[in-house]
Amino acid sequence: MILDIIAGARPNFIKIAAVIHAINERNKKGYIIKYRLIHTGQHYDKNMSENFFTQLNIPKPQINLNAGGGTQAEQTGAIMLGYEKLLSTTFVPNICIVVGDVTSTMACAIVAKKALCKVAHIEAGIRSNDLSMPEEINRLVTDSITDYFFTTTLTASNNLNVQGVAAKNIFFVGNTMIDTLMNFRNKLSKPKFWNELKLEKKKFLLLTIHRPNNVDDKMRIKQYLQVILDNSKDYKIVFPVHPRTKQIIHTLNIESNRLFFVEPQGYLQFNYLAQHAFAVITDSGGVTEETTYMGVPCLTLRDNTERPETITIGTNELIGTTPESLMPYLQKLFDGQWKKGAIPEKWDGKAGERIVSKLLEINKNEKYFSCL
Ligand code: UDP
Repeated sequence: MILDIIAGARPNFIKIAAVIHAINERNKKGYIIKYRLIHTGQHYDKNMSENFFTQLNIPKPQINLNAGGGTQAEQTGAIMLGYEKLLSTTFVPNICIVVGDVTSTMACAIVAKKALCKVAHIEAGIRSNDLSMPEEINRLVTDSITDYFFTTTLTASNNLNVQGVAAKNIFFVGNTMIDTLMNFRNKLSKPKFWNELKLEKKKFLLLTIHRPNNVDDKMRIKQYLQVILDNSKDYKIVFPVHPRTKQIIHTLNIESNRLFFVEPQGYLQFNYLAQHAFAVITDSGGVTEETTYMGVPCLTLRDNTERPETITIGTNELIGTTPESLMPYLQKLFDGQWKKGAIPEKWDGKAGERIVSKLLEINKNEKYFSCL
């Protein structure tokens, strides 16, 4: 069986790590699963890309399509051209694995499908039902042409059912992002600035903001920061700044001896911070899952989520996107009233292995390897 594994952006690297480790384990047991790891180049900063390969023990990608930068359309086009050329000048694998909901996910799924390659989507079926998010468009397009749907929750499986996907192609396997967290939990490590900033466990808040509707409005970020500073006692606030957010952060003129802007963190450092934070305030999707797993309170600066279990089962709350809506939640948090939460079903570290096992089973019955 030959697979293409596509990864383009930070959350992708974290999710594919679990699949690659599961393949390696199988190969140690005598299976022959070959794969090409293809980096589209969507995220190319060292802090957003290369460091993850080193920290998560992922082999260097065999191919880099170098399709970073540009508008949504430019990036989609560049990735599609790069991947199409690769398939036409080399070969079409048995299955193309795409993960998550970034531009690379959608672009490579389209190219693979048109080359008559089967497409497997990891983290299929999650839905925010908010078409103002580019990620939701990527999810819908990808799932409309996917052959094998690997889901993180039964809600996601059900969303696919409702959309008419045949039940035999939907596999509820659990969450590869949690596999990676479980795998690396005892390797999490303090960021270099921990001592310099005199951080203490459970005495600081961790903040991440990068979604376009939060970042594009400069005043909104400023007000978020002001509300957080005004309602967080003497707790420090650590804010790893995503490249998209960086452009505006220096124009905000907001200063406090409790607020620290830092570079995007390595995976091991970021999750060390998340694990030891009093709470995490974020608009990320993946971070809401990791905090749910670690039992850390999470306040999500969004109006909706494609990961409802982080709220119904986990430690997450949807705050909305107006700075004033944060206030009552911060009060609840500092009053010690935050829910404890639990871990959703099958977030148990075995999703990668379940996916590989299913792919082997599928591939046993189908012969569609072709060379162009
Ligand atoms: N993350 C990281 N360093 C950071 C911020 C986040 O390693 O400075 C990790 C985090 O642990 C999670 C993933 O990046 O696994 C989430 O990525 P992001 O928020 O960019 O994407 P989303 O999940 O919102 O699509």
